[in-house]
Amino acid sequence: MSALEIAAAVRSGERSALDVVEEHLTLIEARDPGLNAYNLVTAEGARAQAAAIDAAVSAGEPVGRFAGVPLATKDNMCTRGIPTTCSSRILEGWRPPYDATVVTRLREAGAVSVGKTNLDEFAMGSSTEHSAFGPTRNPHDPSRVPGGSSGGTAASVAAGFTPLGIGSDTGGSIRQPAAFCGVVGMKPTYGVVSRYGLVALASSLDQVGPFAANVADAAALFDVIAGHDPLDSTSIRDFEPTAQAVLEAGVDGLRVGVVKELAGGSGGVPGLAADVLARTAEAVEALAAAGAVVDEVSVPSSTLGLSAYYLVMPAEASSNLARYDGIRYGLRVDGATTAEMTTATRTAGFGTEVKRRIMLGTYALSAGYCDAFYGKALKVRTMMLEDFARVYERFDVLVTPTTPTTAFELGARTQDPLTMYVNDVCTIPSNLTGHPAISVPFGVGDDGMPVGVQVLAPASHDAQTFRVAAVLEAAA
Ligand code: GLN
Repeated sequence: MSALEIAAAVRSGERSALDVVEEHLTLIEARDPGLNAYNLVTAEGARAQAAAIDAAVSAGEPVGRFAGVPLATKDNMCTRGIPTTCSSRILEGWRPPYDATVVTRLREAGAVSVGKTNLDEFAMGSSTEHSAFGPTRNPHDPSRVPGGSSGGTAASVAAGFTPLGIGSDTGGSIRQPAAFCGVVGMKPTYGVVSRYGLVALASSLDQVGPFAANVADAAALFDVIAGHDPLDSTSIRDFEPTAQAVLEAGVDGLRVGVVKELAGGSGGVPGLAADVLARTAEAVEALAAAGAVVDEVSVPSSTLGLSAYYLVMPAEASSNLARYDGIRYGLRVDGATTAEMTTATRTAGFGTEVKRRIMLGTYALSAGYCDAFYGKALKVRTMMLEDFARVYERFDVLVTPTTPTTAFELGARTQDPLTMYVNDVCTIPSNLTGHPAISVPFGVGDDGMPVGVQVLAPASHDAQTFRVAAVLEAAA
């Protein structure tokens, strides 16, 4: 059953929320030991919330849009009194004193969070292998990664543990795992979904967004979590989420651009696999068959996204992660002086990838190098914004593959950070520009693993991505 079907059945009293939750908890208990999608299953809390929903239904009181729908929450979203680890040792034992706004909104909508899902430590990674609690595995083939960093949430939705999931996307962490796991994942426009209570990775890039097994559920989830939040200073005022309203609109007359540099064109990014490009081409043909006006388009600066991102993101991360000092949160390893205590805590608490990025970011920001590295990356970012603005004068949406390849084997890329970073080459541009983008499953690769196609739109045109995704889903 889809999330919307479950909610309708719970609201009408046809199904009890407690039964629904129990059924999903049973699945998790049976299968998650082999997948490791969850850092923590909050079974008791979920049962209590489901029982309260059932009581409200019996009493004829209103229940929310997602009444009784099980939800996976990425473990970098603050949950009051419930451990929030970011899959890092450094947050060991920490329990946030407040809920993230998305967590609150979804609870008010009746969604039942069944637990906190695994991620790459502090959301740094593309495979969920950089987790202090062991890797998550891909439900379609457990020898492969689910993608990352929201790999736990993606696996939860793909395995049928929960119809809905919440992730965060700084450089592709919703869309890339969605593609690898064969589910829908969407990164909203920067500022559309509140980040209050999201543990910060790179503050100028981070966005929270929806995961679901189908486009209609993802659109409904987006409509619930989007909208102004006074608790987030970067939150856009007056944004009206309308994703569900446009799902039937079709693409007749819509102008669709295929980004040459990110879709196998000459002079574009290397390493895009033939099977992924073939599915992308088929997706574009399906849009044309549905009436879209399709053309190839060049966005020259899109090839520079990866380089700019790996300066901006570590720079911001090195600053954000300075707060883990052994005093305020979680882990403390004692030392003779405060400085020694902080060093010992950070040495023991952070994993290799986190340390690598703190060093890269500190270096990129250091006196004497700041203009050459960080400053230059900001210029590239501005150039990309201008390039995309120009392209969106002629196109309503753009299409690319979500990822260069299908899901790879566990361990295949952990020894070489660069081969890991290349996973995000198609997703990063939308983070640097702050634009919305969705990944929708479109067939499988030569290895039988899911392929995702990405639809990009200009800022605040989030609904447009769902509209196109609905047509692609029907064609796939
Ligand atoms: N995989 C990218 C990285 O490692 C993106 C991470 C993210 O979006 N949180 O930084």
